[in-house]
Amino acid sequence: MAQPTIAIIGAGQAGFQVAASLRDLHYNARVVIVGDEPHAPYQRPPLSKGYLLGEVDDSQVTLRPAAFYAQHQIELIIGKRAVAIDRTRRKVGLEDDSVIEYDHLVLATGARNRPLPVPGADLQNVFFLRTLDEANRLRERMSDAKTAVVIGAGFIGLEFAASAAKTGMEVTVLDVADRPMARALSKTMSAVFAREHEKAGVNLVFNTQVMRLLGENGRVTGVETVDGRVMPADLVVIGIGVIPNVELAATCDLPVENGIVVDRFLQTSDPHISAIGDVAAHENPYAHGTRVRLESVQNAADQARCVAHRIAGQPAAYSALPWFWSNQGNLKLQMTGLPTSGCEEVLRGDPNGTVCSVFLFRDDKLVCVETLNRPADHMLGRRLLTNRVVLTPQQAGDLNCDLKALLPKPAAAAAPGS
Ligand code: FAD
Ligand code: NAP
Repeated sequence: MAQPTIAIIGAGQAGFQVAASLRDLHYNARVVIVGDEPHAPYQRPPLSKGYLLGEVDDSQVTLRPAAFYAQHQIELIIGKRAVAIDRTRRKVGLEDDSVIEYDHLVLATGARNRPLPVPGADLQNVFFLRTLDEANRLRERMSDAKTAVVIGAGFIGLEFAASAAKTGMEVTVLDVADRPMARALSKTMSAVFAREHEKAGVNLVFNTQVMRLLGENGRVTGVETVDGRVMPADLVVIGIGVIPNVELAATCDLPVENGIVVDRFLQTSDPHISAIGDVAAHENPYAHGTRVRLESVQNAADQARCVAHRIAGQPAAYSALPWFWSNQGNLKLQMTGLPTSGCEEVLRGDPNGTVCSVFLFRDDKLVCVETLNRPADHMLGRRLLTNRVVLTPQQAGDLNCDLKALLPKPAAAAAPGS
């Protein structure tokens, strides 16, 4: 019998991991990855951190050396876009008119930068930061820029700001929200980050919007806000979120709703097509079974493993606990679980320093743990959440309460000879 073909569209974190996991599972199939960027799969996290500062080089950014793909018989087609899916004949068409026939198709098309719809956004020295090519262009410009304005106080904006401030650049970050990482982070932790970024010399401006970017001779010179402020800039970084790449799925009539809609098994409405990673709107048990789209390495990698197991005949609903990290200068943020609006915030530790945790409760139930420079609490938080341990807000806030003791005891080792 002919080998089945597993086609993977998107050569990012998620696409790479499906292929690698299929090989880890010794699944006997032709495995093809198609990616439209001109690079073998690489990791994005260093791009807004060490890579910009020259602390991390290209070889550390790439997920595997080129030889890996040949050794594992993974066909890697890069620099080509998939443009059409024929679901009846199970074929994917690429932009050069080549066609891949598939038995199972995995859509791992990720997300793209949300554009800033204001005059001047197309000036030179206005940057986004999602791809390796964008990071290279920004890094080059950083070498002689003195002032930067960052639009968006989310993860991209603040990680870049921390890196740029380290180089001595004068950095201003502005956001429509009233605090940093407003959508993702508790007010308590947000306040710690605002204070520490300001201490590091970053100027934070909230509750404002950009009216236009100013320029001279085609190059950006500053940012004007709707309330009439003008901030000079040698370079501007835009980090105002992402848009999921759903078009390929939408054009073949797969349901799309803030992402490609998948079920608990990460399968689309077509049993021969799955979707994973930043693009997948999935039912997450930590979001009370509601449909969410998560943008993190953990989610991309774990969803890839889940789909690889299903393809290899070991199906299971996706149930991984969400977690992620963000390094902003010396601030190492880790989060686990999913916060919802209206959570009770319980601080563990000293909010005036840079080592503390915030436990978030919804209806007296622990739903999320945020830690700053406290990796042990992060790991503990993961165990508390996966084991669905019942603890009270009072216990969480009491440094004298040993939270580890609340974890279920490991099953006693069997006595020798028993
Ligand atoms: P992507 O990485 O976006 O990969 C999708 C790929 O598919 C892209 O290369 C895209 O061009 C390609 N593609 C799209 N459409 C097509 C098509 N039709 N044909 C062919 N190819 C196509 N997460 C963390 O948890 N921690 C961090 O510290 C962190 N830092 C980050 C820093 C930066 C600068 C960025 C940008 C992201 C960071 N993230 C971080 C988020 C994390 O990198 C993403 O969640 C993860 O990369 C998602 O993987 P993915 O494979 O789903 O999508
Ligand atoms: P983000 O975290 O969603 O933050 C974007 C911020 O910009 C939000 O605060 C948003 O406010 C604000 N904003 C939106 N429109 C604006 C406008 N017109 N003017 C000013 N501010 C505006 O997205 P991001 O930082 O751009 O990151 C992009 C992607 O990379 C995401 O997938 C992110 O998860 C990923 N990433 C992750 C990490 C990490 O996990 N450590 C690090 C870097 C990047 P609203 O929320 O009100 O829209």
